Amino acid sequence: MAEWRDRLRENIQSVIQRARRAAEIASRDPDSVRVVIVTKYVSVEVARAVVELGHLDLGESRPQELWAKAAALSHYAPRWHLVGHLQRNKVRRTLPLTYFIHSVDSVRLLDELDRVAAQLGLLPRVLLEVNISGEATKHGFQPNELPDVVDRLQRWSHIQVCGLMTMSALDHVGEAAAEDYRQLRQLRDSLVEQVPGPHHFQELSMGMSRDFELAIHQGATMVRVGSAVFEGIEEWLPTRINQTEDEDHEAT
Ligand SMILES: *Cc1c(COP(=O)(O)O)cnc(C)c1O
Repeated sequence: MAEWRDRLRENIQSVIQRARRAAEIASRDPDSVRVVIVTKYVSVEVARAVVELGHLDLGESRPQELWAKAAALSHYAPRWHLVGHLQRNKVRRTLPLTYFIHSVDSVRLLDELDRVAAQLGLLPRVLLEVNISGEATKHGFQPNELPDVVDRLQRWSHIQVCGLMTMSALDHVGEAAAEDYRQLRQLRDSLVEQVPGPHHFQELSMGMSRDFELAIHQGATMVRVGSAVFEGIEEWLPTRINQTEDEDHEAT
C-alpha cells in the first residue's frame, strides 16, 4: 500500500479519536458527533481512499466538484455533504446526490429547494448557515433574521430544516472561536421550541480542522474537517483543485 494511504489512515484515526475524546470530555456521547471529511483539496483518487478506509461522510464546498466525485464514487454510496454556497441553478442536480446541505443561506434558496424537492419527490435535509461573526465576506443569514425564518418554516414542507451551521471568523481562534460556537448553540436553543415538524433544530454543524474540539465542547453534532485529514500527504497528491470562486451566475 502506498505510503500516503498509511498516512491518510493515521490522520483519519487521529481526527476521529480526538473528536470522540472531545465529546467524552464534554460528557457527550461520542456517537453523537459526525465527522465530515471535506475532500475539496484532493483528487477523486484520494477521496476514494477515504471511503475505502471506511469513512463515508464526505463534504465538498463546490457543487460541481461534489457532482464529479459523487459520480466517480457512486458505487461506494458515500453520504455527501455540501458545505459551500449553492447557486439556485444548481439545486436540481445537487439535491438527489446529497445527504445534507449545510449551507442554505437565503430565503430564495429555501424556496427553490422546496420547489425542486417537491418535483423530485425528495425530502432533503438542510441546515441554515448563520453568519455569526458578521464578517462581510461570509454567506449566511444574520442571527437576527433567524426568528423570522423560523416563523415561516411551515411554508417549506418538502425539505427538512434540521439545524444550523456556521463558520467561525478567520481571525477567531481559541476562545474567540469557542464564543462564535457558543452563540450559534444559544441561537439554536432560543428557537428550537418554535420549530414545526418535520423540521427540527437538533443539528449544529460547526468546527473545522483548527477548532473542531472546541466546537464539540460547545455542542457541535457535525464537524467539517479537511486539512487535518490531508496534512502530510500533499507531496503525493495530484495538483490541488482550483479553489477560485465559482463563476457561474445565479438565475434570477
Ligand atoms: C474547507 C471547509 C472546511 C474544512 O476546513 P479545514 O480547515 O481544512 O478543516 C469546513 N467547512 C467549510 C464550509 C469549508 O469550506
